[in-house]
Amino acid sequence: MEKIRERLDALRPEIVAMVKDMHDHPELGHQEFHAMELQAALLEKYGFTVEKGVADVKTAYIAKYKGAKDGPKIGYLAEYDALPGLGHACGHNMISGVACGAAIALKDAVDQYGGEVWVVGAPAEETDGGKVYLVKAGCYDPLDAALMAHPAECWGTSGNMYAIEPLQFEFFGKSAHAAAFPEDGINALDGVLQLFTAVNALREHLRDSVRIHGIVKHGGEAANIVPEYACAQFYARAESTNYLREVVEKVKRCGEGAAACTGTTVKITNFENPYDNMMSNDTMSDRATSYLYAMGVPKGMKRVDSSGSSDVGSVSQKCPTIHSWFCATDGDDSIKVHTPDFPPCTISEAGTEAMMIQTAALVKTGEDLLSDPEFLAAATAEYERKLKEV
Ligand SMILES: [Zn+2]
Ligand SMILES: [Zn+2]
Repeated sequence: MEKIRERLDALRPEIVAMVKDMHDHPELGHQEFHAMELQAALLEKYGFTVEKGVADVKTAYIAKYKGAKDGPKIGYLAEYDALPGLGHACGHNMISGVACGAAIALKDAVDQYGGEVWVVGAPAEETDGGKVYLVKAGCYDPLDAALMAHPAECWGTSGNMYAIEPLQFEFFGKSAHAAAFPEDGINALDGVLQLFTAVNALREHLRDSVRIHGIVKHGGEAANIVPEYACAQFYARAESTNYLREVVEKVKRCGEGAAACTGTTVKITNFENPYDNMMSNDTMSDRATSYLYAMGVPKGMKRVDSSGSSDVGSVSQKCPTIHSWFCATDGDDSIKVHTPDFPPCTISEAGTEAMMIQTAALVKTGEDLLSDPEFLAAATAEYERKLKEV
């Protein structure tokens, strides 16, 4: 651990400069060219081969450093999109700092034990979930493990997140004067209303943990015109992608039934990318957490399980994955992400110190994965077991 801390201390000025540059030049999802170039330049300087625009996503990149011998492939995941009007209020500049710092510091272990270290940079976590495009293109398939860390108002260990499927139901009917010729009309809004009724009836027969929440996106133009078009959007979420598939089929049948009984037609699509559930890898997370405690992070870190969803969930179905949380606010838990108070924390002394400690823990965990086949096998076995859970 001492050696890793020294390596990271030497790297610290360059990491801090990069995180600060991203803070000063925040970019929204899919426009993060500057952030990608900064990371690519730093990684190339340290001998990584960088491919930009992977999976046909302009601001996605993969950086690789290969050892002389074959061995496990360890990936650190970078995010770097900012929020409209708020800059880096989710601290994704720090996520890049952790990923690039960890990858560079893991090179020594790659030289010693063999294998590869990658940084996989994906854009637009806040909007359409850039990692999903990379998942579809198979970018994470070669990895044996993926690790990342997100800043927050407190320390937290990697937890599970829900799978999500965004469903849009468009109903098509026929307009008519609602008072003079109602018998000529087919009311698309009735399709939407029946859909909500059917989904509400369905809830009784789903697991308690399922979340289905929706809105009417379009309900008609005027009260005296039978709506010829209506649209509803729903998010369906469940603890596992496997169970969510069953739920989504039932929700879709609600839409089809609503169309049948109202005489409308329905078109059902995904209006955003679906994410798989985050299967947090406890084997890797416990190891990383033990290193955090060894470096003085107060014991009793809470596990951050969430009924929310993130695109890292889809990565976690491709290889053992952790998503840890570190305190960027100097212990002030009143400062939350997605508020104007957060961006200054990402370049603060206390935030930086926490980022470097978190980075060291992820490097040491990566080193263990490269050097200890039993540890890697345990992480892999847990991943394979969880993949089958419904
Ligand atoms: Zn966010
Ligand atoms: Zn975030």
